[in-house]
Amino acid sequence: MEFTNHLQPTEEEPDEEAAGQRRRLPRLGLTSRILLALVLGLAVGVVFHYLVPAGPVRDEVFVGGIFYLLGQGFIRLMQMLVVPLVFCSIVCGAAAIDTKTLGSVGLKTLGLYLLTTAVAITLALGVGNLINPGEGVDMSSLGATAASDAAPLDEAAGTNVADTLLSIIPKNPIASLANGDMLPLIFFALFTGIVLARLGRRVETVHSFFVQFNDIMMEMTSLVMKVAPLGVFCLLARTFANVGFEAFLPMLKYMGGVLLALGLQLCVTYMVLLWLFARMSPLMFLRKFFSVAAFGFSTATSNATIPLNIETLEKKMGVDRRISSFTIPLGATINMDGTAIMQGVAVVFTAQLFGVPLGPVEYATVIATATLASIGTAGVPSVGLITLSMVFNAVGLPLEGIALIMGIDRILDMCRTAVNITGDAVVTSIVAKQAGRVDMRVFRDPDAGREVDDVRLAVHQ
Ligand code: ASP
Repeated sequence: MEFTNHLQPTEEEPDEEAAGQRRRLPRLGLTSRILLALVLGLAVGVVFHYLVPAGPVRDEVFVGGIFYLLGQGFIRLMQMLVVPLVFCSIVCGAAAIDTKTLGSVGLKTLGLYLLTTAVAITLALGVGNLINPGEGVDMSSLGATAASDAAPLDEAAGTNVADTLLSIIPKNPIASLANGDMLPLIFFALFTGIVLARLGRRVETVHSFFVQFNDIMMEMTSLVMKVAPLGVFCLLARTFANVGFEAFLPMLKYMGGVLLALGLQLCVTYMVLLWLFARMSPLMFLRKFFSVAAFGFSTATSNATIPLNIETLEKKMGVDRRISSFTIPLGATINMDGTAIMQGVAVVFTAQLFGVPLGPVEYATVIATATLASIGTAGVPSVGLITLSMVFNAVGLPLEGIALIMGIDRILDMCRTAVNITGDAVVTSIVAKQAGRVDMRVFRDPDAGREVDDVRLAVHQ
């Protein structure tokens, strides 16, 4: 799914002169529109803050009226998608796992996917606390969209570890869905998907219902993203109208924090794992994987890189396709380390901006929820932002934090997608190597599989 595709005008312009003028106007894709909205929102907000005198027109009509209404409307649209999107995505992901394949290779892959995601989010929380992106600015006056509206983990969460763990099993899954209790919801979705896979043909109708509902949610996401520029403009205009330039530095620091944590995950975590568990040269791996990462970067869509990833692993690195054809699609669906990193830094950023204290229980909750959110994040652009609200809800953070993040998210989305798919390839290489299914002569040959770069692979979206 590429959001920009939906933005092309459809009807023909009958008037030739007007058509000519139209052709001369640059056609902006969604990314450019969001960036433009970011700059305009920032500029309008700053003008309102410093140049427009306070009064009912500024404060009630614009800042507290139009900007608030449209900005919050956009946030609510995103919130609306979370529960059905995560539920369907997990049911479909779990149902796609072939129970026969889920032998030791499957379990090891799942274990490594979860481990790398947990490391990623811990790294992100560490970097966040080191950089302190949201410190020094008080945004609590902005009036938080109470994350407390949404139920936190459970009433029992935070009392003790046993109760927190128990609260993952829903007493009533329908109530968990209705309340948006994410962990029980994910548990139930995984269970449903696994049982769907076990029953196979007998439940074909229900299976295709979930697959189709998943498609519907993807399309809804793409439609909601069409109004993202307006939402971003209003959210930023309101933020900057209230706090002026003070809000600018935190945004840059947040971006730097995410990029730093992504870089560490890519160059340290993955490469150490690759060397330790597979004895494969990190440099050779990076060199051969570069084109796949670049493809992921430019499309911001993990799903689209599946064919190229499998092909590259096989032809350039000697990884047996029988392993990668299972682990790569699975990873593109459930293993989103880069997304988890963005979410970790975003949590620290927002908590500091709004003065919400986070203790060890909250950090543990963030690690668990972001790991699960990564499972529920579909491999298409921007979904990480939507599942971010579920992480915020789990620790009671205000959703306004997403406003600042959203404006610069597309570029970070591109970077985190490159990391997401590198994680899938690293885990696949480790699992394949340990199963004796990597041809090391191919891996060591610098020229192996050159033709892969020339092949134009179909983009699955
Ligand atoms: N764009 C990411 C991916 O495809 C998902 C996200 O974080 O929004 O992997």
